[in-house]
Order: sequence, then C-alpha cells, then structure tokens
Amino acid sequence: MYLSSDQFPAGTILENYDLCIVGAGAAGLSLARKLAGTSKKILVLAAGTPEEKGLPPSFRQKIYGGTAGEFLAKVDPLFLRRSRLHMYGGTTNHFGFWSRPFDEADFLPRPGYRTACWPFPHSELTPYYQQAMDWGRYGPFNFDDLPFWEKALFGRNFVHLAGDELGAAIFHAQYEERYHDFQLRAGDTLKTAANVTVLFNASLLKLESTPDKAHVTSLVCASIAGGKEGHRFTVKAARYVLAMGGIESVRVLQLSGNLGNNKNDHLGRGFMVHPLITTAARVEFGRPVEAEVRNFFRDQQVRLQNPEKPGGVYVHDTAPLVDPRLLFKHCVFNAWGVLVPTPETLAAEKIGGFRIILRFNPEGDKAELNINWEQVPNEDSRLTLDESQVDPVFGQPVSRLDWRLKKEDKRTAIRALALCETYLRRHGATGFQLTSDLGGGADQWTFGRQENALATGDHHMGALRMSARPEDGIVDVHSRFHGVDNLYTAGCGQFPTSGYANPTLTIVALALRLADHLEKV
Ligand SMILES: Cc1cc2nc3c(=O)[nH]c(=O)nc-3n(C[C@H](O)[C@H](O)[C@H](O)COP(=O)(O)OP(=O)(O)OC[C@H]3O[C@@H](n4cnc5c(N)ncnc54)[C@H](O)[C@@H]3O)c2cc1C
Repeated sequence: MYLSSDQFPAGTILENYDLCIVGAGAAGLSLARKLAGTSKKILVLAAGTPEEKGLPPSFRQKIYGGTAGEFLAKVDPLFLRRSRLHMYGGTTNHFGFWSRPFDEADFLPRPGYRTACWPFPHSELTPYYQQAMDWGRYGPFNFDDLPFWEKALFGRNFVHLAGDELGAAIFHAQYEERYHDFQLRAGDTLKTAANVTVLFNASLLKLESTPDKAHVTSLVCASIAGGKEGHRFTVKAARYVLAMGGIESVRVLQLSGNLGNNKNDHLGRGFMVHPLITTAARVEFGRPVEAEVRNFFRDQQVRLQNPEKPGGVYVHDTAPLVDPRLLFKHCVFNAWGVLVPTPETLAAEKIGGFRIILRFNPEGDKAELNINWEQVPNEDSRLTLDESQVDPVFGQPVSRLDWRLKKEDKRTAIRALALCETYLRRHGATGFQLTSDLGGGADQWTFGRQENALATGDHHMGALRMSARPEDGIVDVHSRFHGVDNLYTAGCGQFPTSGYANPTLTIVALALRLADHLEKV
C-alpha cells in the first residue's frame, strides 16, 4: 500500500509494525520486496514520492551536502552531494547496474596486506546472488564460466601463457532504463502487498532509544513542505533497518548519540570507495590485436533466452543448435571481459584486488586502460558530523567526510599497472605509457577532473562494518548492530572489505539474506 505523510496530522504515532525499513534505495526496496506477502507487517519510509524521475528536487538533495576533508577536496569536492540521490529508488536512479559478485578472495584475510575479512564465507551469499540476478533479470549467475562468455560475446580472452599473473573476469550491466529504477522493479509488488506500507515524504531525523542505548524505542520523523521541515510524526516498530546508504545511515546514528556498542569508536570509521583512474595508461600493440580478443573485452549487448525457472539454464539465442521455438523470452543485458589478478598473484603481491578495462581503438592497435581497485580498510578514513554547518531543510549538522588513502592503496595501483604492462607485453604490446603520476606518498596523485586523475568511484563502503566480535566492528553477522537488540542495517556501509566489483549486486544479495533472517525472528 502507498501512503503519504501529508495524509495525516502532526504528532501522529504510526505503530504496531513488525519492521520499519528506513530508506527506499537498492537495499531498502530489495528487502521490502522480498518480505512482501509474508506475515510481517512492514513500514518503508521513503524520502521522496513515486512521481519523481531522474533527479530529486534540489532542496532534498541539499540535505546530502556536507564537508569534504582536505584530501577529498582535492579529488572530488562535491563527492557527498554528487555520488548519491536523495529520492525514491535512491541512487539506483542513476546507475547502470555494472555488476559482478565479490570474489572468494575478497571475503578472506590477505596476509601482509590486510587482516580484515568477512565474518561468514563467500559461499553463504551464493544463493542470494542468484536471487539478485533473477530478480533484476540481469542474466545468468555464471560470471566465471569463461567458455560460456566467450561464446556469448563472440570473442575470446588472450590465450593463457604459463606464468600469466592476470586472467579474465566478466562484468554485466543493464542499460535498459526500465531496469535501472529499483522502484519500478519493486513498485507494483509493494503497492499491492497487504503487509507493506510505503510511506512517502517521510524522513528519519533521529532514533530514540532506552537510556542504555541497547534498544530503539521509536523514530522521530518529519515530512517536507515547501522545501522546509513540514510536520513531525513518530514511528514505532519491533525492529528497524537503516537502509539510507553508507553515509546517511552513519549521519543519523551520529545525530542520535551513537547507538550501540561504540566503545571502540568504530562508527563512521573505515570509509572506503573504489579508487578509480579512467585512463591510467595507454598501450600500443605492434599490430592489431585479433578482433576476437577485442570483442571479448568490448562492452556489448547480449541476448539470452531467459528461462522461466530461476536458476535454469540460459541458452545463447544465436547458438546454431537452439530451436527457434524456444526463443520466446529473452534476457537482454550487456557484458564484457576485464583483466583481474589471479588469486595466486594477489597472495604473492600482497595488494588489493583490481579490475582493468581495455578500451581498444577501432583499428585495434592501441588501447586505453581504465582501472579501479580495492581500498584497504583505514580507521583514519572517516565520517563525522560537521557541527559548523546544518542542512537547509531540517537544520541538522551535515556529514564531514575525511576520505584517506594509505600506502597500501598506492602500492596496489602501482603494482596493478606494472602487472598489466608485463601481461600485455607478453601478449603483443610494444609500448605502455602511464598517464597518471603514481610517484610520491599515499596522498600524492594526479588531481583534477581530467581522465588521468584519481577519482572516487561512487561506492560508500565500510563505515558500518560487519564483524563477528563487537570489538571489531559495528554490526554482527546478521547485519544487526552490536549491542542493540532491534536495529539492523542494509547497504554497503557494512562491507568489511571492498573488493573491486561494483557493490550493488552484493548489497541486494545481503538484503535478501537479511530478509530471510528477519522473517524468522
Ligand atoms: C552515477 C552513479 C553510478 C553508479 N553505478 C553503479 C553501477 O553501475 N553498479 C553498482 O553496483 N553501483 C553503482 N552505483 C552505486 C549504487 O547506486 C549504490 O551502491 C546503491 O544505490 C546503494 O544502495 P543503497 O540502498 O544503500 O543507497 P541508495 O540507493 O542511495 O538509497 C538510499 C535511500 O535512502 C533514502 N534516505 C536517505 N536519508 C533518509 C532519511 N533520513 N529518511 C528516509 N530516507 C532516507 C534516500 O532518499 C534513498 O532513497 C552508482 C552510483 C552513482 C552515483
């Protein structure tokens, strides 16, 4: 059911819900949709309206303003406002669903590089990754079946040579607009579900808790009217999930007096993105690289027969042996190959994961390298409140983001590009020119808006990190805040390590896993 906060008076108490999900972006909507039709009575707080398309009104987006720390100001001063959208559907209104699950190595500690790891095995997410793919009709969950992808992409990877330290991996994307907007994917189900109410024009301002901060008692919420705070109301539920993105969820917790077990001051610390250089190097090949290889690395549309049964076998519809009568339904998405380190290389080099996109020129004798990589967890990279500035709608302090990199991050970039040079020279490259300055310390990079400058990626990970022990993080293996019995999070704030893959497929998988947990409690 859809409801708007404009439909009831100031001071209203909305109560008797089993669950209140705050935030209706990728995480909140995936969670709500999976719980639609269950016995749980659910309220979803959505800051915008279902009519908004493309961009939120500027007054609401300004709530996402904030202060960039010294390093971030050099890299991307508008990051806080630019890299997220405060509206129904959240930041998915802008994204292209570049997707790839995290690798097993991302979940494990990497001796000599980082001790941080996930508190459950990668295999636990496998069924949820499958469900996330099926839900979005984003293609088959077989990213590592390279022979399949060589056929689907009409191409092939570089022939593997003994001693190669890099290999290929597959990314998917969904560029069809109708799939972009999570509210469109979830909307009808949520609108008609008897057990779900989506409350529009509803912003969470603060959580109220018991004096020991171990139990959330209610939410202080408000509407927006004429670009300013409208009326206040209260929400009471047995359990709450913060799904406001990896920055705003931290801000609201800080505005609420740092709930939970924050003795070790972890809240807001360890903020990570995927550092990115759009054109980090230019490569020349003595003669054109074979067209097939170029094809494998080219972003291209793939049409596969979409099986009715989740988890069924996908058939490449242009394969000669497919009976045309079977081609009644297609799954259309984009896919392409990238270069990644092998697990052995990662272990030997003691660096973060990375992926390199090869963009060939039409003649096929030159390529540009786009790289993004794993940021090592860093306690000094943190979100705090900037008490000197308030947001223009509710008048609450804005976020300050002191994003920092460590020497390990510099080393990952340097080694990744060196390994790529070695690999490509073995496969026919005759020239390799770095475009970006990788000299100097952890805070020295090429800055600016040009293609060779350090950029931030738009993924907000780590400031609510998951840990087995309360001493080591903010939420437990079930995404529940350590020390608070009824507060959870959904989103990539809880990622303890960042991998190199875009995060939303993992956000959705984790939200679906959380749904299973919440249905049982
Ligand atoms: C340009 C761009 C391209 C991207 N491309 C990709 C990509 O290709 N692949 C990928 O994996 N990721 C991509 N991302 C990242 C992706 O969009 C995010 O990872 C994802 O949207 C995060 O989901 P979320 O639900 O945690 O947060 P969001 O999607 O940001 O949703 C948060 C929701 O919470 C609401 N909210 C915030 N504060 C409050 C409050 N106080 N009260 C009530 N509601 C509140 C917001 O209005 C919003 O609806 C991209 C990001 C950008 C900016």
